[in-house]
Amino acid sequence: MGAVPGPFSVNDRCIDCGTCWQFDPLHFAPTGSSSQVIRQPEGEAETRQALLALQACPVAAIGTTPELRRLTPSDGFPALVTRHAAGDVYYCGWASRRSFGASSWLVVRPEGNVLIDSPRWSAPLARRIAAFGRLQALVLTHRDDVADHQRWAKALGCSRWIHQADADAAPDAEHQVQGSAVVALDGALQLIPCPGHTAGSMAVLLGERRSVLFSGDHLWWRPEQAVLVASERYCWWDFQEQLRSVERLKELDVAWLLPGHGHAHAFAPGEWRAALEQTLAFN
Ligand code: SF4
Repeated sequence: MGAVPGPFSVNDRCIDCGTCWQFDPLHFAPTGSSSQVIRQPEGEAETRQALLALQACPVAAIGTTPELRRLTPSDGFPALVTRHAAGDVYYCGWASRRSFGASSWLVVRPEGNVLIDSPRWSAPLARRIAAFGRLQALVLTHRDDVADHQRWAKALGCSRWIHQADADAAPDAEHQVQGSAVVALDGALQLIPCPGHTAGSMAVLLGERRSVLFSGDHLWWRPEQAVLVASERYCWWDFQEQLRSVERLKELDVAWLLPGHGHAHAFAPGEWRAALEQTLAFN
């Protein structure tokens, strides 16, 4: 399918990060090396979604008319993904080129809100996040997705967590996770070391039953084949260690997988373990 001409288009600045077609698959799709508009938005709701994809793009590769651009919502991000008993989860948009367009997530909960990986710095987004209440922590899942962490921490007064093995990417982070032991930020949020993609990769688990797992670049969902992907191609450290880290996640009861790159996915009861076993068997 070729690009559909009209007011929205993708130019050659595209870095093929996937942000637009993961957020708005109705209007954007990958070409294999870039992204293209596969349907021009019709009506208010579709136009809003395409404008938010434009706002989320880390390199301003999506263009539209000045008239439409003026309609870009100021309240689009954070965008609600799911409500969990342990906290409401939002996608932050505003992807950063410095983390190759990785997704970042906000958990809103009574114990203090937590940002998972760093969005591109944006004063409007910072005001929106602050309006949700006190930001307790910024958890950096691994060295690739730290983006503008210093600016976020300073502006919102939160402490940062990173694994010691990736800590040179954020040497002034207030907390370092050591070794392979799970760290409970508090009762409802755990940091799980998952070495492999990088030496200091971590996943973040929200809730104990029907949990939300923020996987960084450790695991993501590929909808075309309906499989969980642990990628050897995009493994920067030790793929066998990454598979051992995948194995350790089998006992979890995951309802939502929210990765840094690749698609998010909701799992029915029992599907998580079966999907992980399929991934391990394939590798
Ligand atoms: S968000 Fe921007 S850079 Fe990323 S795939 Fe879409 S157009 Fe390309």
